[in-house]
Amino acid sequence: MSETIFSKIIRREIPADIVYEDEHVLAFRDIAPKAPVHVLFIPKTPIATLDDAGPEHAELLGRLMLAAAAYARAQGFAEDGYRVVMNCNGDGGQTVFHIHLHLLAGRALSWPPG
Ligand code: 5GP
Repeated sequence: MSETIFSKIIRREIPADIVYEDEHVLAFRDIAPKAPVHVLFIPKTPIATLDDAGPEHAELLGRLMLAAAAYARAQGFAEDGYRVVMNCNGDGGQTVFHIHLHLLAGRALSWPPG
């Protein structure tokens, strides 16, 4: 797969407001936030889209979800609520082809999304 801007963020070649990191996961604030809290959780090992993920990625995908949930608890907005979203390909609205989980919070989020 071709490299994306997120690989450059992982390597610290371009700046990002990093809020969480562990061996497998990096999380940073979205450059164009759609809610008062908008953080992207990405695997350090790139996968282009959810459609490219296989059973070998099950643990990594779970790590993204659990990292987002832990961040929400640690920041104190888990009880008020939040949303996690992963866009896939064109109709899903994906623009960066390095899988990422959006964590959105800080306001009541409408449903369904546009
Ligand atoms: P997608 O549309 O692929 O689901 O989400 C990509 C997200 O990455 C968008 O919300 C966009 O604002 C964010 N984004 C794109 N380029 C950058 C960047 O260079 N830095 C940061 N922090 N976010 C970015």
